[in-house]
Amino acid sequence: MGEFDLIARYFTRPVRKAALGVGDDCALLAPAPGMQLAVSSDMLVEGRHFFADVDPEALGHKALAVNLSDLAACGARPLAFTLALSLPRVDEAWLAGFARGLLALADAHGCELVGGDTTQGPLNICITVLGEVPPGQALLRSGAQPGDDIYVSGTLGDARLALEALLGHTPLPADTLARVRQRLERPTPRVALGQALRGVASSAMDLSDGLLGDLSHILKASGVGARIDTHITSNLIAESAYPSSATALFDAELIRQCTLAGGDDYELAFTAPPARRDAVAAVSQASGTSVTRIGTVLAEPGLQLVDAQGQAVEHRYASFDHFR
Ligand code: ADP
Ligand code: MG
Repeated sequence: MGEFDLIARYFTRPVRKAALGVGDDCALLAPAPGMQLAVSSDMLVEGRHFFADVDPEALGHKALAVNLSDLAACGARPLAFTLALSLPRVDEAWLAGFARGLLALADAHGCELVGGDTTQGPLNICITVLGEVPPGQALLRSGAQPGDDIYVSGTLGDARLALEALLGHTPLPADTLARVRQRLERPTPRVALGQALRGVASSAMDLSDGLLGDLSHILKASGVGARIDTHITSNLIAESAYPSSATALFDAELIRQCTLAGGDDYELAFTAPPARRDAVAAVSQASGTSVTRIGTVLAEPGLQLVDAQGQAVEHRYASFDHFR
């Protein structure tokens, strides 16, 4: 199978919203008049972001999910995406699975595949996603104000726990691994929550490299500091909710590592004034996404971690950095 047959079979479908989709030199989009375009790219590299033997359907899902998560963080509505794919060889079973996972998530969010590029080489997936947002309403990292509440959506740390197990660092029972692995391999982009937070949140971002490291980007962009309640964040590891959970056996340190510096959570972290607590609760309800208040924005720079007694917790949780 050649390059163009491959594109035709796996990545070409009738256009829906786009004016022109796959097949010409450019795709043509017809954005709603007056809207701003939100644009973001994320690349997934074999051996760096995923294991070579990962289920291709899960990989297709994750490749788009991490991009949709960026749109969610900005409060944008997904429109379309392009797919740049480098493949070592044509493996039809792999391609069919990959396309199934990718396009199922695309359909769930009305986000249309409109073009891309296909080449032979090491397995590498780069998606560029486009969304729309009313002018001036995008959620940014720079709006956090002293006194604001700090929230995160969903759960934290399960993806990291899965990674630790898959790397052989932390043994996990099979049923536990199966659950946390879902969070690593099939993250849920918080697209509805992000859009509903427009006009409510003062700042937002998505969590890809670990809560504390990512939060520090909001703090820096906003020129503020924060206090985070680690007894609350430690309980956000979903696995601890299972009666049979192995997390009951783990020391608090591992749980803190996973929840504070885990990475691959793809939840939203955001801030909002205390006067908007009811609005945040309503947004959470309307979007069907749990949110938890985990701390407070402070005027003085720096990140303070406290335990249930309000005592300082030592902060030595580095976030993921490809070049460190
Ligand atoms: P060009 O050489 O003009 O850039 P290509 O020959 O690379 O175009 O691609 C042909 C068409 O197929 C283009 O419309 C391109 O956007 C699309 N395309 C290529 N690879 C992919 C892919 N992996 N997924 C979706 N569309 C693709
Ligand atoms: Mg090309």
